[in-house]
Amino acid sequence: MTHATPAAGLLVVLTGPSGVGKGTVDAHLRRRCTDAVASVSVTTRPPRSGERDGVEYHFVDRQRFAAMAEAGELLEWAEYAGNLYGTPRDPVRRAVADGRVVVLEIEVQGALQVKAAEPAAVLVFISPPSFAELERRLRARGTEAPDVIARRLQWAREELAERHRFDAEVVNDDADACAERVCALIRRARARAGARRGDDVGGASEPGGSVADG
Ligand code: 5GP
Repeated sequence: MTHATPAAGLLVVLTGPSGVGKGTVDAHLRRRCTDAVASVSVTTRPPRSGERDGVEYHFVDRQRFAAMAEAGELLEWAEYAGNLYGTPRDPVRRAVADGRVVVLEIEVQGALQVKAAEPAAVLVFISPPSFAELERRLRARGTEAPDVIARRLQWAREELAERHRFDAEVVNDDADACAERVCALIRRARARAGARRGDDVGGASEPGGSVADG
């Protein structure tokens, strides 16, 4: 009986400093590899131009965020550069139970909470080739004011010091190559999870999407 059971679901966390290119790596990852879906976070940060509610983020006020955290609706959350960010728990749990690969793209404090709460998750730290390159990328993005960039760079130094606490570190010198290395980690983790269940895990490949798609 081949593929009688769905492939093993997996929670994958991409973490690393702001500006390192987690979003670009994530986009390449979902294009080139597996049936991975993105989780849509909640945040109190105001939308940047072009960002849509429910797509890049669910944009909420502090009161709503606090209510969600209080009710245990967030798998993890953290305050980053003056704004709150968190991962809604239920859509992630449901998608993993359905055998999907769910990718969280989050900062380091939240990633460490996931590591504690979900031991089966695969946590990947995305590093910049150098600190100077991180600074260049953050400035080139042009989405933040200079004082915000300065705060993010200061925070990045502290985040980089935590890189050894994750399952793997992948340097983002080229987003597609970086995504391929993350894909290889996912394939291995899925094969291990499948072997533990005693099933025959194939290279299931469906179009990507987001766990908020319903
Ligand atoms: P940005 O404001 O640039 O969209 O995100 C700032 C930082 O927050 C980035 O490092 C991003 O990965 C992280 N982030 C986005 N969503 C979440 C989340 O749900 N939880 C946590 N802990 N961090 C998040």
